[in-house]
Amino acid sequence: MSALLPGAPGRRSLIAAGLGSALLAALPRRAEAAAPMTGLRPPEWYRTRLGDFEVTVVGDGDLDLGEPAAGFPAHPRDDLTQLLRANFRSTEKLVLPQNCFVVNTGRQMVLFDTGVGYTRPFGPHTGMLLANLRAAGIMPEQIDAVVCSHGHIDHVWGIIGGDGKPNFPNAQVFISRADFDFWTDEQRASAQGWIGTFVQGARRNLLPVRDRLAFVEDGKEVVPGVIAVSAPGHTVGHTAFMVQSGNAKAMFIGDLAHHEVIMLRRPQIEFAFDTDSKQSAQSRLRVLRMLAQERIGVLSYHFAFPGIGHVAAEGEGFAWYPLPWGVAL
Ligand SMILES: [Zn+2]
Repeated sequence: MSALLPGAPGRRSLIAAGLGSALLAALPRRAEAAAPMTGLRPPEWYRTRLGDFEVTVVGDGDLDLGEPAAGFPAHPRDDLTQLLRANFRSTEKLVLPQNCFVVNTGRQMVLFDTGVGYTRPFGPHTGMLLANLRAAGIMPEQIDAVVCSHGHIDHVWGIIGGDGKPNFPNAQVFISRADFDFWTDEQRASAQGWIGTFVQGARRNLLPVRDRLAFVEDGKEVVPGVIAVSAPGHTVGHTAFMVQSGNAKAMFIGDLAHHEVIMLRRPQIEFAFDTDSKQSAQSRLRVLRMLAQERIGVLSYHFAFPGIGHVAAEGEGFAWYPLPWGVAL
């Protein structure tokens, strides 16, 4: 009976215990699997379908714009802070992703906007379009059309590479005439502050492709399946693009709205980088109402990656419904 009492093990269990610890010593110890943190950013691309078209979103990296209130000087700071807090977003800094889109229509490969390019003016985590394109299995030579929503730094500075040659050697480049004229105006290149810097960069990227550049016009087809939709205000010729395959529709909205919380919940808000903030808000309201009413998909340049989803009218503004993983638009 004594062998069954706790604290008085029998001979058999002693042998078993000895054998057990010998076996354990021979096995690799789990604690030794600890590995250094990689700190690596994953490749930034995602793919879905729109009718017969294939839509690939390719990141160019994040723009850190600093304190959120700095971007919206006319808006009450408290409201901005509360809004960001309620949506679990940083109240310390405003970070805008850059989502470039490649639409394969089956006839053409169309790239919408090109990021900040090789000079990486916003730091090492920007200017990543070409690397992410390759990661997505798309070669720059395959791009037939580069379609630009407007002439700003984060949309046209990726047209020309560090060698002075076009990054997309076989592509025709599209932009509105109003934006081309405004942002390549030599007189404006010497303007103080960011406007001068933007103009110098737009000239570096748009003038070398002048002979392969075509102007988009409101309501006109850019390439089959892509229609230009004028949405001025953020810049004089800011343009969105309706992409349509059969009955499936989605709009590349460019900078119609820069942030899915701030600018959808407060669509009247005025952004510091707008050329005409009031006109920009009017365009935003008009286009967002249409997208919500007609339940048209949204391809957004600056919303959280991958920037694909729908907008719905809600309260005084709009709500953002991201497209679930693996679902077609
Ligand atoms: Zn932008």
